[in-house]
Amino acid sequence: MSAAVLIDPSDESVIREVPDTPVEEVDAAVARAVRAQRGWAALAPADRAQALRRFADAVDGAVEELARLEVRNSGHPIGSARWEAGHVRDVLEYSAGFPERLNGRQIPVAGGLDVTFHEPIGVVGIIVPWNFPMTIAAWGFGPALAAGNAVILKPAEWTPLTALRLAELALASGLPEGLLQVLPGPGAVVGERLVAHPDVRKIVFTGSTETGRKVMAGCARHVKQVTLELGGKSANVVFADADLEAAAASAPGAVFDNAGQDCCARSRILVERRALDRFLELLEPAVKAVSVGRPGEESTEMGPLVSVAHRDKVRGYLELGTPVAFQGTAPEGPGFWVPPTVLLPGSRADRVVTEEIFGPVVSVLPFDDEADAIALANDTVYGLAGSIWTRDLGRAIRVSRAVEAGNLSVNSHSSVRYSTPFGGMKQSGIGRELGPDAAVAFTETKNVFLSNG
Ligand code: NAD
Repeated sequence: MSAAVLIDPSDESVIREVPDTPVEEVDAAVARAVRAQRGWAALAPADRAQALRRFADAVDGAVEELARLEVRNSGHPIGSARWEAGHVRDVLEYSAGFPERLNGRQIPVAGGLDVTFHEPIGVVGIIVPWNFPMTIAAWGFGPALAAGNAVILKPAEWTPLTALRLAELALASGLPEGLLQVLPGPGAVVGERLVAHPDVRKIVFTGSTETGRKVMAGCARHVKQVTLELGGKSANVVFADADLEAAAASAPGAVFDNAGQDCCARSRILVERRALDRFLELLEPAVKAVSVGRPGEESTEMGPLVSVAHRDKVRGYLELGTPVAFQGTAPEGPGFWVPPTVLLPGSRADRVVTEEIFGPVVSVLPFDDEADAIALANDTVYGLAGSIWTRDLGRAIRVSRAVEAGNLSVNSHSSVRYSTPFGGMKQSGIGRELGPDAAVAFTETKNVFLSNG
């Protein structure tokens, strides 16, 4: 049987092998999920809520263990990994509120009573990338389970360890067998089978736009529901009237967090031309101060890239010859390191400006006025996130309405809270996760008319 050999990205040591799931086992897992889902959906809403709270408690008790697994498997700094494990718990706790709040509607009609129900979809396939293995999985499985579905989760080939542990915690907390199954293996085998299997009624896919297109085409063949969370090339727009010190101090975190392997990374910093020199002067010490090093150390802010293949891809962008403004540091020796790097491209059409690099590389570009800033921010096929720095409230409102992206923040860089909706416009995706409506996305609306005749 084939297997993935997992490598610690910070020192290149072998962690362990994880066997791939064969296609027949995917089919067997779907059959188990179909059975488990029927029983789960038949539970009283309060009982489903209680079961999810117990799962959240189990995750809470394992935060440190999950965080250490992510440090080893993905190279995330320990502080970030603890936040991620805690976020999984929070998503589950928030989701535990859904079963008792999935209210339908009563619609005034002639001749009787009309009501709607949010019925579960059935079995949901969740396919996730390697950059935030456990948080992105939880955005899918928390609300999907809450709405009465069963879930089959396919982790990315390089990073299955936290997902596998979460499935064990789910069982240990009392969730029924078959309700949340994790099937590691290649996208071309396990992922494609989930997309093609007629009993998997919805796919939530997070990953590259290229693969997302294939997944959407596969879902179309079965007229299967699909949510897509895809790539990004988000803008951090800094106007000359902004608090430049605050904007520059926070810009490194907005793009170098998780070594830039973040779909929301603000990887284009757009600065009003008259403030450009001052902004770069303030940005340089902030970039050089980013603490890049061993992910297990408490003081580390940025770790290595996830794999040698990905490190080489990111380095390829640095070899295109775009002028480098300045760089931070990175350890020597084994591990997949790239230092935080700030580029000053000569053209808005440079590949480093238009393509998602998914590494610790940011391009700084000047703009002339508000209209130019909006045009430049929108000059991308993506539309996931972005930030706007200004002291002018009217401008903050105008620009945040004009930028075509699903998640914007003004005078900050926040993108993800479990209680607010998250997702992309344009080629960054379709549908939304998280927030008050998260569970509705895992339901079918059924309308029932009861005649009074
Ligand atoms: P990827 O598209 O290569 O893989 C994502 C997942 O899809 C993996 O589990 C992979 O095994 C699986 N897969 C591959 N081929 C498949 C197929 N034919 N059918 C079904 N599944 C298949 O992406 P990646 O390199 O793992 O992740 C990086 C990308 O993810 C970046 O583009 C990033 O922006 C994006 N991303 C988006 C979000 C978001 O919420 N919008 C969040 C994180 C990452």
